[in-house]
Amino acid sequence: MEILSFLLSLFTHTLLLNFSIFHFPSISAHRTNHGDFLRCLSRRINDFTVETRVIHTSKDSSFFSILNSSIQNPRFSVLETPKPVSIITPVQATDVQSTIICARLHGVHVRTRSGGHDYEGFSYIAKNRPFVVLDLRNLRSITLDVDNRTGWVQTGATLGELYYEIGKSSKSLAFPAGLFPTVGVGGQFAGGGYGTLMRKYGLAADNVIDAHIVDASGRFLDRQGMGEDLFWAIRGGGGSSFCVVLSWKIRLVEVPSTVTVFKVEKTSEKEAVSVINKWQYVADKVPDDLFIRAMLQRSNETAVYASFPGLYLGPVSYLLALMEEKFPELGLEIGDCREVSWIESVLWFVNEESIDDLRKRKRTSRSFKGKDDFIQKPIPRTAIRELWRRFYAPEARLAKIILTPFGGKMSEIAEYEIPFPHREGNVYEIQYLAYWKEEEDKNKTDTEKYMRWVKSVYDFMTPYVSDSPRGAYVNFRDIDLGIYGLGMNMKKTKYEVGKIWGVKYFKNNFDRLVDGAWKDTECRADLGWYFFNTDSPDKLMGTYNLRRGISPLQSELEALIWAMQCMIRHNKLVMVFQTDCSDVVKMVSKPEEWPAFSTLLDEVDRCKRRFTSFNIMHIPRTNNTKADKLAQSARDLPTDVYYVNSISPVWIPELL
Ligand SMILES: Cc1cc2nc3c(=O)[nH]c(=O)nc-3n(C[C@H](O)[C@H](O)[C@H](O)COP(=O)(O)OP(=O)(O)OC[C@H]3O[C@@H](n4cnc5c(N)ncnc54)[C@H](O)[C@@H]3O)c2cc1C
Repeated sequence: MEILSFLLSLFTHTLLLNFSIFHFPSISAHRTNHGDFLRCLSRRINDFTVETRVIHTSKDSSFFSILNSSIQNPRFSVLETPKPVSIITPVQATDVQSTIICARLHGVHVRTRSGGHDYEGFSYIAKNRPFVVLDLRNLRSITLDVDNRTGWVQTGATLGELYYEIGKSSKSLAFPAGLFPTVGVGGQFAGGGYGTLMRKYGLAADNVIDAHIVDASGRFLDRQGMGEDLFWAIRGGGGSSFCVVLSWKIRLVEVPSTVTVFKVEKTSEKEAVSVINKWQYVADKVPDDLFIRAMLQRSNETAVYASFPGLYLGPVSYLLALMEEKFPELGLEIGDCREVSWIESVLWFVNEESIDDLRKRKRTSRSFKGKDDFIQKPIPRTAIRELWRRFYAPEARLAKIILTPFGGKMSEIAEYEIPFPHREGNVYEIQYLAYWKEEEDKNKTDTEKYMRWVKSVYDFMTPYVSDSPRGAYVNFRDIDLGIYGLGMNMKKTKYEVGKIWGVKYFKNNFDRLVDGAWKDTECRADLGWYFFNTDSPDKLMGTYNLRRGISPLQSELEALIWAMQCMIRHNKLVMVFQTDCSDVVKMVSKPEEWPAFSTLLDEVDRCKRRFTSFNIMHIPRTNNTKADKLAQSARDLPTDVYYVNSISPVWIPELL
């Protein structure tokens, strides 16, 4: 007789929720779950025509074109980059729910992608584990309620598509998000989202008033359903951290029907350094209707220049008077300015001509690496001069340094209002970006020089920027700040490791993101099972820790399903399952009496039908010591565990 005893141990220890910032490694990944995942998904979709639109495996001819079409940092298009085993492109919310439920049941990791602009490719790369990409490109509807100045935007939409709809509907409404039209609203609002209206209205995330999400258990929830703690976390806590956001409800903001865009350029080093120096003293203090950026870059092989593009929420005459008073050193003249509508200002900032261009989904051919800092007091002229000189390096040919002014509304919102903490006290944010042509990615040593350039500028800036912690913007994700991965210090807990970079992105909000609001509901479920045959020396064992379900019984059923799947995979089809949870035995025997668990019980039933003989019985916990030890061992490890083998894991050699 073949027997498997399994045990689930639910344990309330602090869990770092973020799938992307906190990149969970697997200790052992003997997973062949992809097939089961696909079968589960296909059963749930249950419509062949829909299925072909939604599921794309690497065997499909369209697979790579879908994958690459929104890789917006081509350095991650190269062969060595880990590829997903399939891409799921949901056409309705239930497809997202099914993806999450099936992925959870079958131990498949999910990366969610909206616009694909993640600086480090986190929406389509996962190292060391099989994963699927949940690409939201088909969920992009936008509905605006101009009278109430609100709107719902699905997270597969781009900023350009949102701006297009707003521009078409009204001349006096806008939304304060980023500048670049192909960026997705899914990733951007989840990390904050700033643009030309930030000094007047704050971040995109400051203007989100409701959301629809699918949580880790596959539930569809709105703001009321998810509760204020989760709603707080998804507005700035970083994409992919807590759930899949399906749509945001946004508050539209008022803008005058005529605004003014302008740009001034300075080509002499002396003048540029002097004007940037003055900019540092005024850009965060001028009225919040005025946004002036400063940028450094090269115009050709030899020349460097500074530019000052800006937006004023009013007519040119007011702007000129204001600049004369506050910032005459810039030398703004009427010829540098253009009166336009707000939607035209959006086009102007990205050098586009027609409003239809905002809806174009283009893939970039430039690879990049970025890092950023927050500046809390003006840096000395000598430092500005050094930044200028760094552009003479050959690898700075396409580089940019961008200074974005804070102040205004950004300083009025408290640090803890949403997870984005960089508020009062920040004069500006500075980004160091190196770009290169995609073709150069073929040779890694060629591209490393660009990375080194960015790193050296970042190192040079150390004395001048925020410290304790040295702040960073989560939307400009920087893997150098730290990441979960192989080689991490196993003596430290996930919390301790994650805190190294977590406080840089979130300052004091990090603790609330990690455990404050989550302790009670988001804990680990540690599973263990031990298989033996009464007539042979055959043995197998497994241990796995996964995010705890919404109730202990849900996790108990998930433990059973996992154990059943492992047995099916090992062709052990005449089985007696033993558990110390009597409710599981009751549920499996009379599923109709447990309607709240029907989804999982259906899955149990489907698995059951694959056994030639299936029995389940209750045993006391004292008879379940091996499974107990396996489950506990998963609990004690600081990393993700997925272990199935015939020999004991190295961390519990005494098991057999
Ligand atoms: C060219 C360029 C210009 C930029 N300009 C600005 C700017 O002006 N202002 C600014 O603030 N930022 C800007 N950014 C940064 C940008 O906001 C972030 O990179 C943002 O995360 C990108 O969102 P995305 O949806 O395009 O990216 P994706 O790569 O699709 O997603 C980014 C992250 O969010 C997660 N995610 C995506 N969709 C969802 C979802 N629906 N639910 C849960 N998680 C999700 C992903 O898994 C990933 O971790 C720019 C970036 C680039 C490359």
